[in-house]
Amino acid sequence: MFFVFAPYGPMRMRLLSVLFYYAYNMKLKDNVKLRGITPELLIGILIAERIFDKYKYELIITSAVDSKHSATSLHYAGNAADFRIRHISDKSIITQIVQEIKSSLTQDFDIILEPDHIHLEHQPRF
Ligand SMILES: [Zn+2]
Repeated sequence: MFFVFAPYGPMRMRLLSVLFYYAYNMKLKDNVKLRGITPELLIGILIAERIFDKYKYELIITSAVDSKHSATSLHYAGNAADFRIRHISDKSIITQIVQEIKSSLTQDFDIILEPDHIHLEHQPRF
């Protein structure tokens, strides 16, 4: 359904259609707001989802443009998202997932393993 309508919608709908079409192993925590996330961040999320999926884990977004973050956080600019890790009991797998996300994205992305989540942000460097 999304696929059929994808070519006809505005850019944002097309991007969301791509997200829905491919993201069969992705969930959003209640109250996560995606409004205004950048296409660059979306691509980072999609690539991260493929890596979570490779290890048979779903990618659960726990925060994007919502919740409390530091005043200068890229979350507020739609350039950062957090992923749950508590459903992955093997810490070495979490480390591997982080490493693989890093090696799959460019240096314009920062992937940080926090105590209870993976933080992904797009911060272009020129
Ligand atoms: Zn974050």
